[in-house]
Amino acid sequence: MSSTATACSVCSARCCAEYTVSVIGCDVWNITSGLGIPPEDYLLCFQTNKVGPGTFCLDQSDTRYDIALDKVEGQEEKRDCVFLMPLGGPGRCGIHAYRPYVCQTYPAYLDGDMVAIREDVLCPTGAWKLSQMNVGGWRERLNLFQMAQDVYYYVVSLWNERVAAAPVGTVFAISEYYSFLLNAYRAIARRGGNADAKTISAAWVAHHNAFAASPLMEPDEKTAPLVAQAATRIQDALREFFVTPEVCDDEVDPPARIAVGSLG
Ligand code: SF4
Ligand code: SF4
Repeated sequence: MSSTATACSVCSARCCAEYTVSVIGCDVWNITSGLGIPPEDYLLCFQTNKVGPGTFCLDQSDTRYDIALDKVEGQEEKRDCVFLMPLGGPGRCGIHAYRPYVCQTYPAYLDGDMVAIREDVLCPTGAWKLSQMNVGGWRERLNLFQMAQDVYYYVVSLWNERVAAAPVGTVFAISEYYSFLLNAYRAIARRGGNADAKTISAAWVAHHNAFAASPLMEPDEKTAPLVAQAATRIQDALREFFVTPEVCDDEVDPPARIAVGSLG
């Protein structure tokens, strides 16, 4: 997942082959609007036993689905990510500027407000040492990721509401879910605020940690104004999109990348 030039530049990118690389809506919007690649060309939709907030329905049964980056065909096992370029040596990400958040942040995660390194990593031993890393930069990326994840969970909850409200027996195609995602994120992008992305996402994560909940799912009167405004802007954008069916089409505007924080 090629997180930095240092450790990754001498690595064979095992992470890009061995993991199922999960994506969130913001990743899909950024790749499709930025590179003009339809979701069907790089995503894999699969059934999952998880019932977490990022899983979605395509009908009114209990079956849940999730999405991840597709893999290269023709390989027996541990297939490469569709965006991995072998180049005759260590693999390199072919969409570096647009790679999903999970790729941008691997192998780090937020432990409260602290940056930590996963222990079960595929990286060469000793590749990542916090003492040698720009921890502030990693924290910024992880904050943006957390906020983007909360937004995705909210978008998915709206989709699941739509499925639940459909006439009995309706079965949605995955292409309809992708279309919904792209239109939802386009609506959010159009409502983007001017506040600094890093500042908003830091405040957003502080809220998440304090209340153990997304500001979108469980707003609180003690929510910081910056976070409350960001959440309201996102909800307003999606409400407008959600109740205006004619907005939901298959068109994707030219590049209008969401830096996630611009969601605020
Ligand atoms: S998008 Fe890039 S960094 Fe992420 S798994 Fe694929 S090749 Fe690796
Ligand atoms: S396995 Fe670790 S060091 Fe190797 S490319 Fe992936 S993130 Fe970088």
